[in-house]
Amino acid sequence: MSKRDRASKHKGKIEFGTKAIHAGQPSEGTTGSLMPPIFQTSTYEQDGPGQDKGFNYSRTNNPTRQRLETVLAELEGVKFGAAFASGLAAENAILQAYLRPGDEVVIGTDVYGGTYRILNKVFGPIGVTIKQVDFADAAATKKAVTTKTRLVWVESPTNPRLIVHDILEIADAAHAKGALLVVDNTFATPYFQQPFQLGADIVVHSVTKYLGGHSDTIQGAVLCKEASVFEPIKFLQNATGAVPSPMDCWLTLRGLKTLELRMERHEKNAIAVANALKGHPLVKTVYFPGLVDHPGHEIAKKQMTGFGGMVSFELDGTIEEVVEFVSSRTYFTLAESLGGVKALLCHPATMTHASIPADARADVGLSDTLIRLSPGCENPKDLVNDLLEGLEEVAESRAKSRSGKKVVAVGVR
Ligand SMILES: *Cc1c(COP(=O)(O)O)cnc(C)c1O
Repeated sequence: MSKRDRASKHKGKIEFGTKAIHAGQPSEGTTGSLMPPIFQTSTYEQDGPGQDKGFNYSRTNNPTRQRLETVLAELEGVKFGAAFASGLAAENAILQAYLRPGDEVVIGTDVYGGTYRILNKVFGPIGVTIKQVDFADAAATKKAVTTKTRLVWVESPTNPRLIVHDILEIADAAHAKGALLVVDNTFATPYFQQPFQLGADIVVHSVTKYLGGHSDTIQGAVLCKEASVFEPIKFLQNATGAVPSPMDCWLTLRGLKTLELRMERHEKNAIAVANALKGHPLVKTVYFPGLVDHPGHEIAKKQMTGFGGMVSFELDGTIEEVVEFVSSRTYFTLAESLGGVKALLCHPATMTHASIPADARADVGLSDTLIRLSPGCENPKDLVNDLLEGLEEVAESRAKSRSGKKVVAVGVR
């Protein structure tokens, strides 16, 4: 049996971690290069006018990018994928493809700041109505979707409060009125959640995060089940041109090969961190879908195969204490973004979600003392100690200011 026949016999049966390494990435034909080459070229020689070998210009298509689009689509269990220069470029392609003046889009109350901004600052002004609804309220969700709704846009788990929404239920509400369901699967990744099996029509990713996984590239992707849904997005990828470079695609192809390994470790670390924070006297609330008292725990168990790697918590303290805490950790680096091998933390109110006005943040319950953690692939003990040490420092500085004494240095550090 030829290698090709054997591969097609296994198609559909291969496991996730194997797909991430093999899908769309056979050894290169002419040289046998095991790893996908970086086709760093803008154009392709033609045998005669219009006689190309499937590639004619790298904005339109590129062999390295094609490999990435193939594996991303296969990981989400569908046929069609388009890679973009950022997650927001991917979002823009979906919004531009489907929204016209007079149309409505329904989104949740807890949503990535950039998604909120592109809707309200770019699509709002051209006459698109943006409706924010609490997706946890099934009746309100049903009511919000009308015949004018073109897209229902769901993030689950959400950024930054890790709210878990019942995707199947929201898909029904969208489809009942002829709207398409878009799922931002950035936080869960296809390893922990398969939105197309829950009724999604379009899946969007910030590839920058877990899929790339190493905090070294900005990229996005759109995946579709149906050719007819995909076609206008694929058209815009070429027509508006926000494509990733071959080198960036290669970085993601490399990152994806360890997606399963990394997600297992991220989740293990998230569980360790959530358990350490929970019940601590200086911690008000811990948001992690893996905790049994998390409001979305049961839904998460039903629609995900793991709880993901992100944890958020509210410090029971002042803004100054929050700022001090996030600024002085050893292994959790203060930075925007998430999903890389190196742990990060951020203060959403002043960083990732600062594009949402303060009153709008307050309306949806996004607290100024919320801290978002992205545990990396470090050893969980070091990550837990880093956070506990920070909480201890908060307690110590309170004790000192209460006693009114000046800090006296003992010994030399
Ligand atoms: C970061 C992020 C985006 C935007 O992606 P970029 O790659 O930064 O453009 C979209 N959705 C979610 C959930 C994100 O975390």
